[in-house]
Amino acid sequence: MVVKRGTNDGQIVPMARYFRDHFDGQVMLRFIEYMDVGATNGWRMDEVLPSSEVIERLNAHFPLEPLEAAAPGETAERWRYRDGAGEIGVISSVTRAFCRDCNRARLSTEGKLFLCLFACHGHDLRALLRGKGACTDDQIRSAIGAIWQDRGDRYSELRGAMAAEPGSGSRRVEMHYIGG
Ligand code: SF4
Repeated sequence: MVVKRGTNDGQIVPMARYFRDHFDGQVMLRFIEYMDVGATNGWRMDEVLPSSEVIERLNAHFPLEPLEAAAPGETAERWRYRDGAGEIGVISSVTRAFCRDCNRARLSTEGKLFLCLFACHGHDLRALLRGKGACTDDQIRSAIGAIWQDRGDRYSELRGAMAAEPGSGSRRVEMHYIGG
């Protein structure tokens, strides 16, 4: 659930209740902070409801306790219901950025590799596959490794500074282009 203050935050508790009451605890509902992905969603910071507030609201109805991360680079913080009714996750992409542990890359349908959800440019992998003198699998693997090694993306940690940069938001890739 993407939580947007003033739009759907009244549904946090009903959503949690629904997932508690169905699925025998087998489906983990995750709440993610509303983000400024792309340049067309009219994002405003005052519409972001911090995950800490999501936890606070849920805890008042269904007491929660934190759990250890399931894997390194896990984007969601895990919480379990104290009564054993399952888990939820919260993704604090705005208020508690986790770029230093980020291990995600995204590939567009045109074969461009984006190293960050907020990137302005992708790396053209299709050219390696289809260009003159197409690369071998090993060469492509090495090229991807080199691109990743050179990565310096940490948009969410720099959000405030980048938002202040004139025109910086206009070039970010849209989520539908890279598949979310
Ligand atoms: S802002 Fe970019 S680098 Fe930071 S966590 Fe999100 S995708 Fe990863």
